[in-house]
Amino acid sequence: MNGSKVSTTPEMPLMAHASAQLVDQFGRHKHKLRISLTDRCNFRCSYCMPDNPEWLTKKDILSFEELLKFCEVMVHLGIQHIRLTGGEPLMRQGVVNFVQDLNRLKVHGLQRISMTTNAFYLKKYAQALQQAGLDDLNISLDSIHADTFKLMTKRPLEPVLQGIVAAQQVGIPIKLNCVLVAGKNDHEIVELTQWAYQQNIELRFIEYMPLDQPEHWQPEKVITEDGIIQKLAVYFHINKQQRQHDPATIYRLNDRYKLGIISTISKPFCQTCDRLRITATGELFTCLFANSGTPLRQLLQQDDLSSLTSTIMNAVWHKKAGFIAHQQAPSRKISMHAIGG
Ligand code: SAM
Ligand code: SF4
Repeated sequence: MNGSKVSTTPEMPLMAHASAQLVDQFGRHKHKLRISLTDRCNFRCSYCMPDNPEWLTKKDILSFEELLKFCEVMVHLGIQHIRLTGGEPLMRQGVVNFVQDLNRLKVHGLQRISMTTNAFYLKKYAQALQQAGLDDLNISLDSIHADTFKLMTKRPLEPVLQGIVAAQQVGIPIKLNCVLVAGKNDHEIVELTQWAYQQNIELRFIEYMPLDQPEHWQPEKVITEDGIIQKLAVYFHINKQQRQHDPATIYRLNDRYKLGIISTISKPFCQTCDRLRITATGELFTCLFANSGTPLRQLLQQDDLSSLTSTIMNAVWHKKAGFIAHQQAPSRKISMHAIGG
C-alpha cells in the first residue's frame, strides 16, 4: 500500500457484475433512470432552452437499439423506474414501439415506465402509449390561461388541454408540472391549484432552476416552496407530509388533495437522490447540475458488456455529495432541454 496516498473519497468496492448494484460513495442506491429521447422540442419555454437552440443531428443521437441495450443493463443493475423525457419525447419517431420494448423488461425487474411531455401531440398518441404499456404521464402545464401559457412556452394552450383529456380518457394516470417564474405566472398559483384540485389531478410546482440559457436565471425569479404555501394557505387547509425519495414535498390540501412542490433551490434533496439520466447523445449524468457526463455510446456499440457495466458503475460511484450546495448554474453549455428534465 502507498502510505502517502491521501484519498478524500472511499474506493469503489469490487463487485461481481452479476450481483452488482448502482450505488454511490455515499450509499445512495439508484433506482430511477431518465432518458432524454431527443433534444428537439416544438415549444420554446424560456426557462428551459436558449432562444435559438442548435439541434443535434439524427446521427448524433442514440438509436433505439442502443437505448434498449442500455436499459437492459440498467434494469439488471437495479433500475426499477424509467422516465422518457427530452426535449419533447413525443417528437421522437418510434417512441411508442420503444415503450413496448421497454415493457418487456418488466419481467427483469422494471416496475414503471413514465413519460414527461408538453402534451401538444398527446391526443394523437395517448391510446397507443397506453396499449404499449406506459404507466403514467407528467404533463407540463404552466398556466390555464392562453396568454400566460403563450408567454411561458410561445405556443397555444388548447392542444395541451386536449392532450390532458385524451390521457384521462384512455386511463393513463397523470400529474401536472408547473415551473413558476416570478413576474410571469406566479400570480396564477392559487387559480391553477384550484383548477387542478377541482379536476383531482395532482399538481407539482417546480422551483425554477438555473438550467436554461446562460445569464438568464436569477434568484429573484424563483418562487420558493414557502412562498407557494403561504399563498395557498389563505384558501386551503394544508398538511405537510414526510418527504421520502420523491423529489417533491407532498402537501395535503383540505385533507384530500395531493399537491407536490419540487424545491430544488430552496430545499435541495441531494442526500436522498436515487436518479440517473442519459442524454440523447448517450452521456450518463449522475446529477442535473453536473458539469459533465460519462460518454457511453462507443461502449454501447461493443458486444462485450463488461466495460460498459463497469464504466456505468464507476460513474455512479463517484457521484458527488450534492451539486447544488452553492446554488449556481453548472458551467457547461448543455441546458435542460438537452439533458432531459
Ligand atoms: N418537453 C417535456 C415537458 O416539457 O414536459 C419534457 C422535457 S422538460 C425539460 C421536463 C420538465 O422540466 C418539464 O416539466 C419542465 O417544466 C421542467 N423544466 C425545464 N426547465 C426547467 C428549469 N429551468 N427549472 C425547473 N424545471 C424546468
Ligand atoms: Fe420543450 Fe419541455 Fe423545455 Fe418546454 S420544458 S421547451 S416543452 S423541453
